[in-house]
Amino acid sequence: MSENKIPYKIYLEESEMPKAWYNVRADMKNKPAPLLNPGTHQPMTAEELEGVFCADLVAQELDNENAYIEIPQEIRDFYKMYRPSPLVRAYCLEEKLGTPAKIYYKFEGNNTSGSHKLNSAIAQAYYAKKQGLKGVTTETGAGQWGTALSMACSYFDLDCKVYMVKVSYEQKPFRREVMKVYGASVTPSPSMETEIGKKINAEHPGTTGSLGCAISEAVEVAVKNPGYRYVLGSVLNQVLLHQSVIGLETKAALDKYGIKADMIIGCAGGGSNLGGLISPFMGEKLRGEADYEIIAVEPASCPSFTRGVYAYDFCDTGMVCPLAKMYTLGCDFIPSANHAGGLRYHGMSPILSQLYDDGLMKAVSVEQTKVFEAAEQFARVEGILPAPESSHAIRVAIDEALKCKETGEEKTIVFGLTGTGYFDMVAYEKFHNGEMSDYIPTDEELAKYRAKLPKMD
Ligand SMILES: *Cc1c(COP(=O)(O)O)cnc(C)c1O
Repeated sequence: MSENKIPYKIYLEESEMPKAWYNVRADMKNKPAPLLNPGTHQPMTAEELEGVFCADLVAQELDNENAYIEIPQEIRDFYKMYRPSPLVRAYCLEEKLGTPAKIYYKFEGNNTSGSHKLNSAIAQAYYAKKQGLKGVTTETGAGQWGTALSMACSYFDLDCKVYMVKVSYEQKPFRREVMKVYGASVTPSPSMETEIGKKINAEHPGTTGSLGCAISEAVEVAVKNPGYRYVLGSVLNQVLLHQSVIGLETKAALDKYGIKADMIIGCAGGGSNLGGLISPFMGEKLRGEADYEIIAVEPASCPSFTRGVYAYDFCDTGMVCPLAKMYTLGCDFIPSANHAGGLRYHGMSPILSQLYDDGLMKAVSVEQTKVFEAAEQFARVEGILPAPESSHAIRVAIDEALKCKETGEEKTIVFGLTGTGYFDMVAYEKFHNGEMSDYIPTDEELAKYRAKLPKMD
């Protein structure tokens, strides 16, 4: 099919939507390292994990063998309300940049939660319901995950208890209220409702909380209340599995028009959107069927891939969660004020960590003001107001397209546009007022956190 036939938006028919998620672990020669029990340092058994997570999700978490896992009909029906998401050819951006590169983006912001997180939230809520649970608990920082989970839980009539980092609870009242619209209870963390919350409040009076602390509270509540389990919106293998719907749709849309991507770019916080987007392409790469240049983009203020170490670490600051082998900055690492709330996690998905360590993908870090420059450039020509997180991918897509302009290469670039930025206008305001800083941690600071990694035998 000739080039000018490619539409601005490539949609799939309902019948072309994925019927199974793709599990990239099945094609990995070096499997991601298992989660370890923090006390014994032995691999977590299914039984141990089932105390915290839903049984079906535990099975998915531990499944390194099955390449395809069927998407239950109920989840496929829910997906149909807001999927397939469009794959957009950025004709306007290409023209503005004067690049011979062909740029496509997969837009996941087209649902009320405003991000890709709903893809996994609905799956996790479904399995909780199927198990006959009363409800689930979770933490949220910036609020995207909490919002997505609230929507998913209300759909399945599940109780949803969200522990929201106190500073966000106070500074982001709108997201908090959206969660309440969907019936969730939202508690500022650290609270006085949990042992760990009381302890942290006593030790650090007036603390505004952290993601790691909110995780510890949510896990405690799940473990103590019969009929409740804990759910997490990124990092875990099961989350990347659910997010593979992004990559499968992208690949189906490209295949429909005979387009071959050269380069795939995504922002990386805990790795769920990037892992989902690249999964089927990485599968081809692992099986030796095709090659792609894959780039993870992270903030220079929280550089897990580019300046972290590949080691076992805690997933939370309370050190109650299992240990995961991942690229990490250390579980006590708290990044400087960065407006991309979803990219502030100290660690990275164990699957992506292994793929990166094996040299199958690259990573770059970018500074905040450069990210917002790209966000605005993109908004002005493509119309969509991007989330600060997503704009990390935009920055690198634009930079790569400009390189093509110099070399004359007609590369096909695909990037993930994970969400919209309507709730991030304070960040845009800071950018406009020239009040945005680009704090990059020093080597000494990073070494200090690294020294506290758990000692493994
Ligand atoms: C949470 C979030 C991210 C980062 O999380 P990943 O797990 O790395 O995908 C990126 N973009 C948006 C809009 C988010 O809400």
